Amino acid sequence: MRDAPPSLVPGRTDLCLRRGQTSGVTPISRRDALGLGAAALAAFPLARAADRRRPGSAPSTDDPFVLGVCSGDPDATSVVLWTRLAGPGGALLEAGDVPVTWELSEDEGFTSVVAGGTVDALAREGHAVHAVVDLSAPAWFRFTTGGWTSPIGRTAPAPRDADTLTVAAASCQNFEVGYYAAHRDIAEWQPDLVVFLGDFIYEYAANPVGDHVLRSHHGPEVRTIDDYRIRYGQYLGDRHLAASRAAAPWLAIWDDHEVENNHARLVPEDPADVDGFAERRLAAYQAWWEHMPVRMARPTSADFTIYRRVEWSSLATFFLLDGRQYRSDQACGDVTLNFDPPCADALVDDRTMLGSEQEVWLAGGLADVSARWAVIAQQTVVSDMRLENGAIINYDQWDGYAPARDRLLLAAAQPERTIVLTGDIHLAAAARLPGVGAEFVSTGVSSRSPVDQAAADALTSLFPDVVGVEADHRGYVRHTVTNDAWTAEFRTVDDATDPDSAVSTWKTFTVDANVRDVVVEA
Ligand code: FE
Ligand code: CA
Repeated sequence: MRDAPPSLVPGRTDLCLRRGQTSGVTPISRRDALGLGAAALAAFPLARAADRRRPGSAPSTDDPFVLGVCSGDPDATSVVLWTRLAGPGGALLEAGDVPVTWELSEDEGFTSVVAGGTVDALAREGHAVHAVVDLSAPAWFRFTTGGWTSPIGRTAPAPRDADTLTVAAASCQNFEVGYYAAHRDIAEWQPDLVVFLGDFIYEYAANPVGDHVLRSHHGPEVRTIDDYRIRYGQYLGDRHLAASRAAAPWLAIWDDHEVENNHARLVPEDPADVDGFAERRLAAYQAWWEHMPVRMARPTSADFTIYRRVEWSSLATFFLLDGRQYRSDQACGDVTLNFDPPCADALVDDRTMLGSEQEVWLAGGLADVSARWAVIAQQTVVSDMRLENGAIINYDQWDGYAPARDRLLLAAAQPERTIVLTGDIHLAAAARLPGVGAEFVSTGVSSRSPVDQAAADALTSLFPDVVGVEADHRGYVRHTVTNDAWTAEFRTVDDATDPDSAVSTWKTFTVDANVRDVVVEA
C-alpha cells in the first residue's frame, strides 16, 4: 500500500494530537460552544490584548510567545495550531513540560470564543505545540500559558465548496542578505494558504555586516538541535515573517538549507562533514518539525516522511514533495555553470529525486485527482534547461535527474491540468510544461539570485517554453485559482535592504483551464 505516507493515515492516533490530554478540558465544537455561550467563555479565561500579562498566575517572567503563532495543514474539518514556547530571543525555555491553552474565536477581539483546549508543550519537543483542532469556519486563534497570551493568528479549514483559492508561494529567506518586505505583503494580502517551498532558514555561520550582509546570523554554522533552534528563533523574531505566519494556514516543505546546502540523502555537501551527518540531519529534521505547523509526529528516526497530499475543495489537490531526503547524490561532482556534456552518471535510469516509495505514491495520487487543478509543490526546477550538447548547468535541479524527471512528467500528465510550484533558485520564472501544464518558480523572499538579469535572459532565450524570468528582485508569487484559470502574479520587493520597502507586481501570467499548457502574460 503506497497510497498515502504513513504519517497521514487517517485516524491520527500516531500524530501529535494532544487535545484534552492533560487538562480535562475537552474541545468543544462550534455548535456546542454557541449553545454553551457563557459557560464556554468561563471555561477559557481571556486576557485582553492590551494587557498580555495577567498577574497572579505566572511562573515565567518573560513572554514565552516570542516565536509567534502559525497554523497549517488544514483539512475540511480541522487544522494544526502551532506555537513554541521559548525564552528571550528564542532561547530554549528552561522548564519541564508546560500546559498551554488554545482558543478559537469568531472575532479578532476574542469576545466570541467558540472552542478551546489544553495541550502540553513538552520539553523533549523544545516546547513546541501542534494542536490539531476541529473547526468548520475561518477563525482567530491564540494561546495562553503562565499568565501570558500569544499574538493572534487567523486560520481556516479547507472549505468544502469554493469558487476561488488564493495561495502565496514563497521560499528562500536568507536572513542575512535581505529583509522580509515580501512577508509583510503576504500578510496584507491575507491569502487562503501560504505554501512555503523550503529554505526557511540558512545554516551558514554568521557573516559580518557589510557588502550584501544586512544583519548577521548568530553564531557558527548550525549543527546541533540547539543550534538549529536558535537559528529558527532568530528568523522568527522578524516581525514581517511573524505576521505572514499568523495570516493564513501554511503548507510547509523543506529544501536543503534546513539541514545543509545541497545535501542529498545522507551525503553532505562537504565530504569532510560525513561523520555525524545522520545525527545532524535528524536534529535538523526535529528542529524543522518543532517550528512548522505540520500534521505529523516528531521525527524519531532517520526516516521522517513529510511528503503529503492536501485537498482544497474541488479546486485543487496539493502534492507536497520532499526532493532532498531520498535523492541520489548530485551527479558528475555537482559542478555548476559547466557547459560540457555531462558524465554518463547523470543519465543512469535509477537515479532518483524522490525515492521509489514517494514516486509510486505520487504517480498513484496524480492518477486519481478529481479536483480541477493538481498542484505539485516542490523544491527544484523541473523545466528542461539542458543545452543542445546535453550540458547540465545546475546538477542540483531536475536536469541532473533527467530519467527521474521523465517519470515525474509522465505522472504529472495524468490529471487534466497540473501546476508545478518551485523554489530554490532565487529567481522568478514562468514556463510551459508541454503536455502537462505550467511551472511557476518563486524567487527568494530575501535570498539573492546567483545570476543577473542579463545572464538569466541570455540563458532562457534558448528555451521557448520559458515565458518569463526575473533575476534582479526578491519576492514571492500570488496565485489565484478558479475553475476557469490559474493566475500567477509575481510580486517583487523594490528594495531588499529596506524592511518597509514597497512591493509591486512584476508580471502576471495565466493558464486557461481549457488549454492546459499554454502560459500567457496577462
Ligand atoms: Fe535558497
Ligand atoms: Ca535550496
